[in-house]
Amino acid sequence: MDPLTDHRLRRYLNDRQGGMNRVIAERIRLLLDGLGTQNPYSLGYPMAKDFDHAFLASFLDLPLNNLGDPFVDGRYGLNTKAFEREVIEYFARYFRAPADDFWGYVTAGGTESNLFGLALARELHPEAVVLYSAAAHYSVPKSCRLLRMTAREVAVQDHGEIDYADFTAQLDGLRERGAIVVANVGTTMTEAKDDALRLRAALDHAGIALRHIHADAAFCGPFLHHSGYQGGFDFDHGVDSIAFSGHKFLGAPMPCGVVLTRKSLSERAHGEVPYIGGTDSTLSGSRNALAVLCLWFAVHQWGSEGIAHRYRDGEAKARFVQAALCDVGVSAWRNPHALTVVFGPVRPEIQNKWQLASDSRHAHLVAMPNTPMALLNEFVNDMQNFARSG
Ligand SMILES: *Cc1c(COP(=O)(O)O)cnc(C)c1O
Repeated sequence: MDPLTDHRLRRYLNDRQGGMNRVIAERIRLLLDGLGTQNPYSLGYPMAKDFDHAFLASFLDLPLNNLGDPFVDGRYGLNTKAFEREVIEYFARYFRAPADDFWGYVTAGGTESNLFGLALARELHPEAVVLYSAAAHYSVPKSCRLLRMTAREVAVQDHGEIDYADFTAQLDGLRERGAIVVANVGTTMTEAKDDALRLRAALDHAGIALRHIHADAAFCGPFLHHSGYQGGFDFDHGVDSIAFSGHKFLGAPMPCGVVLTRKSLSERAHGEVPYIGGTDSTLSGSRNALAVLCLWFAVHQWGSEGIAHRYRDGEAKARFVQAALCDVGVSAWRNPHALTVVFGPVRPEIQNKWQLASDSRHAHLVAMPNTPMALLNEFVNDMQNFARSG
């Protein structure tokens, strides 16, 4: 086990001597041991691991809850809403929302963020049809089913980006009803990005004024402005709501996410609740106050410079893995500005050891910032050995 974790656990158990039953302590130790062994080898999912959130422990003795709207203090005082507002302000600036017209909150994850974006869009345009690509995350069709929205799936190009010709064709007949478009800004399998500028131009061309564009930027959102990507994905590009995950690139140690929109749009879609002394603007009522601290810590600890630096580190490592795989005869490719290295399906031994995400056509490795080079080399060696033996 990682000696740091072991040391922390021992200190914890010593502090609570007599407080914790030995059997319970042993079960917990074994669990932590197993997770600590697995952690370095988990390279298939886009979870940053280069964080130290030890400061959080000091907050665990408090019943924290960010109940309801972060911009309304409400009656429940044990919250981190002041910090949450700073997180929302940071990302509203980053995603170029109008300075006097933004709103958002820290969600339970990218899934809740997408559900919120679609629920908001439905309130604003009850008759509109949802369009998303075949590479959309499963939370998108699921949200449409839950919300009973009519939806159309649009074809994708080989590398995972939406097929703009099919998108344009599917806009046919929507001038009266309107269109709700989900731009997949970093697909789960290949990190392809639908360009919101092109989607918007197609809506203009089709004469569809009733519209809402939701950007699902679960993984890429927090770094895209630092990557040199020139496509559209933010408010200035004409997007109306944006979702991203907090535990992916930003490395929160528990699942969380952010959703952002214009304040003027969100205000048209919600009402007042006397019980909490607030506005019922969030999907979840009780919300995770600790996740807020992790996101606040990430943006203050790293800042934009640090986030840009982390992107460059991940990108250099992705480039390295791609080239090294090609050198050993594995055809690996990447979308532009992506940290995801894509290759064909792999043997179960490799998939299990490295916890690679895969579908029928692809497997991938995500080169997160500060992934140790030794691990990446070990991965390439494993791929070479299996390629040879296979
Ligand atoms: C991961 C992901 C999601 C879902 O986010 P969670 O935080 O896991 O709920 C949504 N969309 C895309 C494109 C994703 O990659």
